[in-house]
Amino acid sequence: MPAEIRLFMCLKDNFGVLLHDPDTGATASIDAPEAAPIEDMLKETGWKLTDILVTHHHHDHTAGIVTLKQKYGCRVTAPAKEANKIEGVDHTVHDGDTVRVGNLTAKVLETPGHTLGHITYWFPDDNVAFVGDTLFSIGCGRLLEGTPEMMWKSLKKLRELPNETEIYCGHEYTKANIKFALTIDAHNPVLEARAAQVQQLLEEGAHTIPVTIGDEKLANPFLRADVADLAVDIGMAGKPPVEVFAEIRGRKDRF
Ligand code: ZN
Ligand code: FE
Repeated sequence: MPAEIRLFMCLKDNFGVLLHDPDTGATASIDAPEAAPIEDMLKETGWKLTDILVTHHHHDHTAGIVTLKQKYGCRVTAPAKEANKIEGVDHTVHDGDTVRVGNLTAKVLETPGHTLGHITYWFPDDNVAFVGDTLFSIGCGRLLEGTPEMMWKSLKKLRELPNETEIYCGHEYTKANIKFALTIDAHNPVLEARAAQVQQLLEEGAHTIPVTIGDEKLANPFLRADVADLAVDIGMAGKPPVEVFAEIRGRKDRF
């Protein structure tokens, strides 16, 4: 049976996500921003928490781990390169490793840039990827530890996932991301269409994710740094994609 997913808010603008395997009952929390809303969703669904899959070491993704672990005895999987910065880790993983949640299987992709050890959990059979703070809907994570080269490479890695892959990211930043993206890629009809769709979703009180890789490729300026027309639009005609990417990221930081 396919995986079941519940999406909800934690803290101010973090997404909480539960991933459930109906065959075995195994349930993973993707990151643990805050224990209480995760526990509430476990109560609502009746699911038992067996795993926490951590994308990176930041507090807004790890603060709930110890409380949840004490309560449910779940197994905590985290990036090997950041495990020393995360409390309660049981199992560390590297690029290419496989992680199981019941019968569901994830492939670990190292996607550094936001932090140096950041990882993505890609479940190819379920067409879903949990990208943490690497890729956002119409945005990408800030380069708090890594270089533009690193982040551009990570984004290209995510861009190569099948178009139908549904992306769950760490934060509800879509509205602000679109406002910025329109300053970079104003004449992109796909971005304009997404802006209208997102406005509608927010008016309905709905979440703006998941989004598919196929849609992001066409609308997210950070995934389009190697599109010649976009470079021309921002006055960087002919510049290497990584420089165009760094310029867009810099403008967003100052936006
Ligand atoms: Zn972060
Ligand atoms: Fe975050």
